[in-house]
Amino acid sequence: MSKLEDWHTHNYLCRHAEGTLEDYVKKAIKFGLKTIGFSDHFPYEFLKNLERVPYQDYSMTLNEVEGYILTAENLRKKYENQIEIKIGFEIDYLMDQEDVLNKHLNKVVHRLDYIYGSVHILNAKKGLYCFDDNRFLEEYNHLGVDNVYTKYYKTQQKMLSSNKFKFDIVSHFDLPKKFNKLPQNKELFFNEAIKSLELVKKRDLVVEINTSGLRKEVKEQYPSEKIIKEMHQLDIPILLGSDAHDPKEIAWKFKRIIKKLKRIGYNQLAHFNKRKRHYIDL
Ligand SMILES: [Zn+2]
Ligand SMILES: [Zn+2]
Repeated sequence: MSKLEDWHTHNYLCRHAEGTLEDYVKKAIKFGLKTIGFSDHFPYEFLKNLERVPYQDYSMTLNEVEGYILTAENLRKKYENQIEIKIGFEIDYLMDQEDVLNKHLNKVVHRLDYIYGSVHILNAKKGLYCFDDNRFLEEYNHLGVDNVYTKYYKTQQKMLSSNKFKFDIVSHFDLPKKFNKLPQNKELFFNEAIKSLELVKKRDLVVEINTSGLRKEVKEQYPSEKIIKEMHQLDIPILLGSDAHDPKEIAWKFKRIIKKLKRIGYNQLAHFNKRKRHYIDL
């Protein structure tokens, strides 16, 4: 039996993905996965300063949270003999907005197996914007590519240092490279990545190896091989996520990435159950 576990999937509830939760389960069973994790985007509607951000296209609404979890719990039971189903969220970090987030998250957090912490939204003079939404692509030119990376790593480091922001896994660690807009000062951003990794280490978090970058312009996984090697040196745990927005993207290029990870020296992957971490062999 395959040992593959895909922790990062979305579904139709977020308005920019295809497929129901059951579609993902059926496809994952067909692919022979051991575990499929639901990590749909947590709602944004209660957050402030989102005037420029089309967040209606990014997630389910607060009213849909209960249905999402309940559906996932029922599927977990229905398919328990065929696949392990884990329930989580991908949550966006917005600076200084943890209190209002927790007000909503605390109602359901005890039912979750894991939480991804993500940075998609950055501060700019004109207001918050989503740097990985191609509708904001011109901001890379407008603000300057290096400035986008600087802002990104500063925001990520804020997330990693926030004792109010609850999460277990850092998703798509070097996301600003998505559109293959690469910084001039590569050394500076490698140093920023190292600073972030030191915070990951201090807080004892997991970093996701996210294969969706292989489907984007940049054509490589998040994070880069250079960063993964550094993570291995620091003994930072990892797990795999396809960031599937369509059932056919489940476990995207996992076999290829596992070869790479073994070459780097990894031989274990993290596994979550009710936000407690275990390990499985790679
Ligand atoms: Zn998404
Ligand atoms: Zn994401």
